[in-house]
Amino acid sequence: MLKSDPTAGLATAPGSAGQASLRSHNLRLAYQTIAQAAAPVSRADIAGAAGLTRATASSLVDALVQGSLVEELDVRASGRAGRPATPVRLARGTVAGLGLEINVDYLAVKALDLAGQVLDERVQWTDLAGSDPTQAVLDLANLARPVRRRLTAQKVRLAGATLAVAGPVDRATGRLRSAPNLGWQDLDLLGLVRRRLRLPELKVGNEATLAARAELASLGDHQASFVYVSGGVGIGAGIVQHGALYSGSHGWAGELGHVTVDAAGPPCACGSNGCLEQYAGRSAILTAAGLATLPAAPRATAAGGTGDAGAGGLEGDPTAQALHAAMSQAGRALGIALSGAINLMDLNTVVLGGDFAHLIRLLLPALRQELELRVVSWGWAPDDQFVRPAAGPALPAVAGAALAAIDRVAANPAAYLAQ
Ligand SMILES: [Zn+2]
Repeated sequence: MLKSDPTAGLATAPGSAGQASLRSHNLRLAYQTIAQAAAPVSRADIAGAAGLTRATASSLVDALVQGSLVEELDVRASGRAGRPATPVRLARGTVAGLGLEINVDYLAVKALDLAGQVLDERVQWTDLAGSDPTQAVLDLANLARPVRRRLTAQKVRLAGATLAVAGPVDRATGRLRSAPNLGWQDLDLLGLVRRRLRLPELKVGNEATLAARAELASLGDHQASFVYVSGGVGIGAGIVQHGALYSGSHGWAGELGHVTVDAAGPPCACGSNGCLEQYAGRSAILTAAGLATLPAAPRATAAGGTGDAGAGGLEGDPTAQALHAAMSQAGRALGIALSGAINLMDLNTVVLGGDFAHLIRLLLPALRQELELRVVSWGWAPDDQFVRPAAGPALPAVAGAALAAIDRVAANPAAYLAQ
């Protein structure tokens, strides 16, 4: 099923502008039908699914093929009389979305084609807490440059780019309001990146929201609803309702890490106190456990999956017991913060990413206990899938950033047809 389109009713206005707008609207319908199909589809399939005539669907698909947004596969026999159907799918290796990410402990760049295939990716592990934003952006530009060169050499067009950053970003101006864990605030981050990298349609978004976008893609369910919780130095959340990202009035939704767990709790870098990050952020967990690093945190490439480490078989080991206690405290605090969000928004599933994914077995008992106690709807629906580890890539925000750039093609393919 296609998502509803608020501009759909405007597409039938008379005159040439109306005709162009109608064609743009129909191109979008055709493109999204192809994008959401589980397998390659024929022009007749597209006509049927999108409610278009065969002739219109055929002409739209021709334009998308000519524009390198869609590709034809070998002709297949339809099993019926008449011309055999030519299946089409989103084009591979022709148009890319570029994801960029500045996180507290790494920089990442990833290029995906329209079908979501990885064309290139780079990760640089580094400590950016309290760093100079100009230097961090310079390092990011140096990481991105060879990726761009490779895309150019392979004649891949860049449709757009998105920068993921761990903090609330002003959707209209691209200003980063505050990233307490980086020590950055009120920064024209978009301007800084633009000065270093010439990128078409560069936008900036919140890391957790973009990670949720990558998780949505990995599910293969365009109508999924969940809250993605990213655990790390900071804690963020991305909310997906019926396949659509919810980012709030300004794009600032998902600051779960700064939801108050205890009004009398310790001070937080955001200026408040008793925030979730003070109990379940990485440094709070390490301090509580008396550890320097979390056990076996996976450092896979952006393409790898998360593992499941430090989660058992260490009974009697005092280090493991201290970690267990710290994770129980984190699970309790996460349960308190999340139950408020779930009660307010009727969220369907909690997906745990980052540190929370690979330590889920240590986190889950206390987390579930709090949810069971505090979520009003607990027990009204099957809960076996209520909390689960993320299924998406190990560095989901940069993947989600690339997907967000590709989403702009899906929203208006007419604007991206090759000249
Ligand atoms: Zn805070």
